[in-house]
Amino acid sequence: NKRVILRDYVTGFPKESDLIFNDTTIDLKIPAGSTTVLLKNLYLSCDPYMRIRMGKPDPSTAALAQAYNPGEPIYAFGVSKVIDSGHPDYTIGELIWGVVGWEEYTTFTPTPNSHHFKIQHTDIPLSYYTGLLGMPGMTAYAGFYEICSAKKGETVFVSAASGAVGQLVGQLAKIMGCYVVGSAGSNEKVDLLKKKFGFDEAFNYKEEPDLDAALKRCFPEGIDIYFENVGGNMLDAVLLNMKIHGRVAVCGMISQYNLENQEGVHNLPTVLYKRIRIQGFVVSDYFHKYSEFLDFVLPYLREGKIAYVEDVVEGLENGPSALIGLFHGKNVGKQLILVARD
Ligand code: NDP
Repeated sequence: NKRVILRDYVTGFPKESDLIFNDTTIDLKIPAGSTTVLLKNLYLSCDPYMRIRMGKPDPSTAALAQAYNPGEPIYAFGVSKVIDSGHPDYTIGELIWGVVGWEEYTTFTPTPNSHHFKIQHTDIPLSYYTGLLGMPGMTAYAGFYEICSAKKGETVFVSAASGAVGQLVGQLAKIMGCYVVGSAGSNEKVDLLKKKFGFDEAFNYKEEPDLDAALKRCFPEGIDIYFENVGGNMLDAVLLNMKIHGRVAVCGMISQYNLENQEGVHNLPTVLYKRIRIQGFVVSDYFHKYSEFLDFVLPYLREGKIAYVEDVVEGLENGPSALIGLFHGKNVGKQLILVARD
């Protein structure tokens, strides 16, 4: 069983050498009397919050994610097939998505809080359950509908807009009838936003370092809703461009995850002057709405009214570089690893 192990707690940007491989032999049969389930992992998801887990245990981030243990496999969301089961709720051959180790096979004991979902709709590519139909899709749905209080005709800005979460947020905002702008870190991504996901406008923040000017050009009347994925300078520039009573849904702050000292936000008084509501949220608080989300999103997907772009690397051995690539903007769309085809 090939596995990806955290060598030691990470400081700064993660490097490939922070993750090492080991190979163990495992029994592909559940022992008699055990209530565990043995999974073969097909796809593994690369997600920015995994960097938070790679750092030293920290009370301020523990409310979002506990640190991984050095010397043990890292874990994340994945799509897996049940290959043996001692648990009455799981049968051989079933497909599930949920938290698994970064390894070829994972054993788990189902609990009511273990966040494993059975995959019922197999007409959709299975890999989508790491993205659009999995945790990131649920994040976009919960963040947009529960936190943003969006109304038709409002102006919406999404950062890291072409990524796993952002691409769906923009499309949900368009479905609601909003004017939607996204930022991304390459011209290829900007093209995707405008041509594939239907954003009204998009800009490359790396080529336009005057973020205030870029935002003023795209939002001459100001921003009603900011779906925050990056933090740092972008948040500062956005605050100055918010409308009175604007809302900021804080989904993520990827620009801060690798910094030892977090950057300050200078324009916070604007929150008072413009009566802005800033609210963070964490997707796991909304997993009880997963079937509602599927009922909502599947018809749009099947009718081709929602598009989704993935960036798939093949082989567990290429997982570490794919994960690290997230922090350099290498992924175009949802980053995931194909571990096994079936
Ligand atoms: P993405 O697919 O968007 O991948 C990460 C992207 O972030 C990169 O491709 C890059 O895009 C951008 N990025 C990386 N470093 C920086 C930086 N220093 N400054 C600006 N942008 C940067 O990831 P996800 O869609 O999976 O996640 C997006 C955000 O949502 C993250 O902050 C993540 O932590 C958060 N999240 C929060 C959840 C919650 O429950 N609250 C759940 C899931 C995700 P580009 O080329 O455009 O720079």
